[in-house]
Amino acid sequence: MLATDTLTDALRSSVRGDILVEGDPLYDERRIGWNAMYDRRPAAIARCTGVADVQAAIAIARQRELPIAVRSGGHSFPGASTTEGGLLLDMGPMQGVTVDPKARTAVAQPGVTWGLFDRETQAYGLATTGGVVSTTGIAGLTLGGGIGRLQRMHGLTCDNVLSFDVVLADGSLVRASGDENTDLYWALRGGGGDYGVVTSFTYRLHRVGPEVLGGMVMWPVEQAAEVLAAARTVIADAPDPLSFQIFFIDAPRLEMIPADIQGQPMIVLGASWLGERLTDGEEVLREIRKVGTPAIDTIGPIPYEILQSLSDVLAPFGNRTYLKTGFVSDLTADVVEVMSTVSAQRVGSTSMFEFVLMGGELSRVDPDATAYSQRDGELCWNAIAMWPDPAETEAQVAWCRDAEREMAPHTLPGRYINFLADADDGDVRGAVGDRTFARLTEIKERYDPDRVFARNPNL
Ligand SMILES: Cc1cc2nc3c(=O)[nH]c(=O)nc-3n(C[C@H](O)[C@H](O)[C@H](O)COP(=O)(O)OP(=O)(O)OC[C@H]3O[C@@H](n4cnc5c(N)ncnc54)[C@H](O)[C@@H]3O)c2cc1C
Repeated sequence: MLATDTLTDALRSSVRGDILVEGDPLYDERRIGWNAMYDRRPAAIARCTGVADVQAAIAIARQRELPIAVRSGGHSFPGASTTEGGLLLDMGPMQGVTVDPKARTAVAQPGVTWGLFDRETQAYGLATTGGVVSTTGIAGLTLGGGIGRLQRMHGLTCDNVLSFDVVLADGSLVRASGDENTDLYWALRGGGGDYGVVTSFTYRLHRVGPEVLGGMVMWPVEQAAEVLAAARTVIADAPDPLSFQIFFIDAPRLEMIPADIQGQPMIVLGASWLGERLTDGEEVLREIRKVGTPAIDTIGPIPYEILQSLSDVLAPFGNRTYLKTGFVSDLTADVVEVMSTVSAQRVGSTSMFEFVLMGGELSRVDPDATAYSQRDGELCWNAIAMWPDPAETEAQVAWCRDAEREMAPHTLPGRYINFLADADDGDVRGAVGDRTFARLTEIKERYDPDRVFARNPNL
């Protein structure tokens, strides 16, 4: 108790933001992230308001040899943004976004979510590749790579970062960019967190929308074979402005879904066209939308900012979650068969199997240019389990692991580190490959030799 009091006093005297401890009304909300599986209790939470707060909090944690965790959007799958007994640096209060429309850049603080980022950049008709759920943080997503609807036109999120401001473990503030600390700049683009605390991101922006084409088509799962055959044709020569995702899911119990299909297993196409002429997108999607008898087809003109929040209803805070992931090179008959079988074995009503079309601009970036190294896979697949009841944990985790085993013969080497649910070195080495792993290890040694930041599945 005394130790906590002393820590709290030290933090309150040097950090401008609020300090939360057990018993504070906000403590419970901020200590658990999106994945409710990680119910941890930090000794204190420092709600950082700027660089100086981050520096002060790190110094205090180091003096007391407390583990540090960093939370921005709180969406870490493996619960890396909370800590048991350590100091949690909550970047939530740092929500600034400044757009320079002439230079087409945005400077954003780490507490910004994609919803906020898109809102501010779309005010100028601009955007960069960002996550497909608006509550996800820009910070963790960017540091791991950043898969999103604009990736085939403009590369991954990390391909669009011009510079990072970073507080290092020794408290110094450095810039990492194409000119300064270039090794750190390389690592922060896809290598994950734990090299320091990023306090500012500068992004390159692109003209997008405001109106684009997007929405979903939902068919009863019995029509999956036809839908997937049509999907393979679309994917074969997909133009860069096409964003394309298929999921196997039970139709959610939402007002917008007809009552007679709610809870029924479905195959769903989520597609958008981010290019200028929406009629080109209509054309590319025409044939697949005609397949079988869709239960719903919502594809039409939509503001980009709204499109970016359409999936929010599928991903509320408060569930437990686990996932397995990988890349495949094509939607062959074998892959389709495995996906269909695995999807049919889903447990509960909120888990899903999905694949997302990769390729386009992201695959043209030199794989050595950033720490994000898997740029060949045509499709990224995810078996995502979400469940509210702890009693289901074993069955849900087992389903994801089975899915991984079944997909293994078709899965390419390398995985996306932001989709790793298990947090050990073996997973990260396997995900990024030996060469990238070795380079990341060297950079970690240079910037954080004492392993002050050690919450992520890396190194
Ligand atoms: C519902 C949901 C939807 C998702 N959608 C997508 C998607 O469309 N595309 C995609 O690519 N990924 C997606 N992801 C995965 C997502 O990229 C990662 O979970 C990412 O880590 C989330 O970032 P965050 O800031 O919200 O997370 P946090 O949990 O706050 O942080 C995750 C980790 O990143 C590090 N980190 C966070 N902030 C900082 C900082 N300021 N400085 C240094 N390190 C920091 C920390 O070490 C932390 O442990 C999704 C995840 C969820 C749960």
